[in-house]
Amino acid sequence: MYYSSGNYEAFARPQKPEGVDRKSAYIIGTGLAALTAACYLVRDGQMKGEHIHIFEKDPIPGGACDGWKFENVGYVMRGGREMDNHFEVMWDLFHSIPSIETEGVSVLDEYYWLNKKDPNYSLCRATVDRGQDAHTDGKFDVSDKAAMEIMRLFFTPDEDLYDKRITDYFDDEVLNSNFWLYWRTMFAFENWHSALEMKRYIKRFIHHIGGLPDFKALRFTRYNQYESMILPMVRYLEKHSVQFHYNTKVVNVEFDIQPERKLAKRIELLREGEREFVDLTENDLVFITNGGCVENSSMGSQNAPAPYNTEIKPGGGWDMWRKIAAQDPAFGNPDKFCYDPEQTNWMSATVETLDQRIIPYITKICKRDPFSGGVVTGGIVTVKDSSWLLSWTINRQPQFRDQPKDHCLVWVYALFSDVPGDYVKKPMRDCTGKEICMEWLYHLGVPEDQIEELASASANTVPVMMPYIDAFFMPRNDTDRPKVVPDGAVNFAFLGQFAETARDTIFTTEYSMRTGMEAVYTLLDVDRGVPEVWGSTYDVRDLLDATVKLRDGKKITEMDLGLKEKLVLHEALKKIAGTDIEKLLREHLVI
Ligand SMILES: Cc1cc2nc3c(=O)[nH]c(=O)nc-3n(C[C@H](O)[C@H](O)[C@H](O)COP(=O)(O)OP(=O)(O)OC[C@H]3O[C@@H](n4cnc5c(N)ncnc54)[C@H](O)[C@@H]3O)c2cc1C
Repeated sequence: MYYSSGNYEAFARPQKPEGVDRKSAYIIGTGLAALTAACYLVRDGQMKGEHIHIFEKDPIPGGACDGWKFENVGYVMRGGREMDNHFEVMWDLFHSIPSIETEGVSVLDEYYWLNKKDPNYSLCRATVDRGQDAHTDGKFDVSDKAAMEIMRLFFTPDEDLYDKRITDYFDDEVLNSNFWLYWRTMFAFENWHSALEMKRYIKRFIHHIGGLPDFKALRFTRYNQYESMILPMVRYLEKHSVQFHYNTKVVNVEFDIQPERKLAKRIELLREGEREFVDLTENDLVFITNGGCVENSSMGSQNAPAPYNTEIKPGGGWDMWRKIAAQDPAFGNPDKFCYDPEQTNWMSATVETLDQRIIPYITKICKRDPFSGGVVTGGIVTVKDSSWLLSWTINRQPQFRDQPKDHCLVWVYALFSDVPGDYVKKPMRDCTGKEICMEWLYHLGVPEDQIEELASASANTVPVMMPYIDAFFMPRNDTDRPKVVPDGAVNFAFLGQFAETARDTIFTTEYSMRTGMEAVYTLLDVDRGVPEVWGSTYDVRDLLDATVKLRDGKKITEMDLGLKEKLVLHEALKKIAGTDIEKLLREHLVI
């Protein structure tokens, strides 16, 4: 497997890998990573669909990418996916996955046209004082000292960041800025999370720094991601006769480990409760989604809280990874990520409005009509003074194809599930759907004497608890995640958010898809480049833009410098006068 960039390889089709007709694949999970691996096995590996088996413990596919209406409970979207134009693997694949909405076009075509015609941006990023605009006004509000702390992290080598926390690098100068408010609520970071992951994010998305405050950097699918992404992939795979095995838990994969050679030799399954084994040869490729951000997630209802259940059991992503990891140090260290759900949980809730009484409060804040069919909030609205640190968003309606036209689906989430709310005075994890809705309505500015009535009669709210949702952000070192294909692996690969691939950022759809592509390309030796992670961090134009925008447009000549630094800057500017360097700096408003 090798990386490439540019058009040449993007449009090339690889030749059929040697010996592929003799090979089979066993894929664990039906999340984006696993489905991507299956799609690449079919499209570029040209493996017969009948030879591909996918084991999924749940009754439906999709893993973390959900969107489902539960009978007598309501609509549930555990999350909504903010996406980027530089999700290179995603677009490499989706340009050849047919849309299930429109005959003759691809998922990429549809997404591209939608986001071109109706670009995303927010008109109110944050509120305070019960629904008033917090007037962050596109500003990062970063002091010179805070800017230096961010720069220091940016330039610190990865090795120095192993097992370090964000708070080892940022103090209140950063943590109290708008920058951090935007960042942690957009990406769901907590202050105690990994400094290494934070650095990767800054580097990965450096080209989007200017688009962070109003979300013009983001793009969204038409419907929830189960309907807009998972279903087209499943349809494509089913058409190619790929074999799906639902309600089938993989308990363990057993390996034969030699000093230079590691072979997956047996898969242990529980199919509908019955124990089975699949014996493997070198021609049987195994793709393992290890760990999982929605493992143990639970659902409440309008009148019941979502249980906080953290127990790790056989047949799930964590226990399976523990059993695998016990067989070789190259298979990672799951407990580094799942040892303390108090550091990794947060909650979301899906609010369905049932009549028009809540809508004016929404419209007042987002300044758009939720029923226009276009962008509504344009990304999350964060309630700056919420003790839960609550944010909410409304994507283009309807979010479900079968959603009633006059009902609006709102996604609410909060980072702190263990502290009392500002109105309901209970931690979010103890709240029913109705109580979470009440807390949200309070922060929308609904008069207090109407809050309970609106939450009861004008909305149905379903809470979800995700104990391991931020597990991938726990401080780690370079050996805690197995490489996608560990050294010496003959017939297996790891997929998803807890497999290591260089430079990309976890908690993204792209990361999962990238691991799927890299796994297939490596194990089948597909002779075509995998598109490299977008290289904006090596593009001087993006670096200059980010530096200026992070400082709210302040030029370097306006920085608070000591006399010595001022003299050095003066000399440097004299030296570049009349050169292309000066021209570049002027073009990017650095000087
Ligand atoms: C709330 C939320 C918000 C998000 N926001 C964004 C966002 O804004 N932007 C973005 O790009 N991404 C976002 N993501 C991330 C993205 O959705 C995920 O990273 C991605 O979907 C994960 O895919 P995966 O295949 O790696 O893992 P998963 O989807 O977790 O798939 C793992 C699969 O394996 C199955 N499985 C596990 N163990 C076993 C076993 N032992 N036997 C059989 N099956 C097993 C599971 O049931 C599951 O189906 C968000 C995710 C969530 C949950």
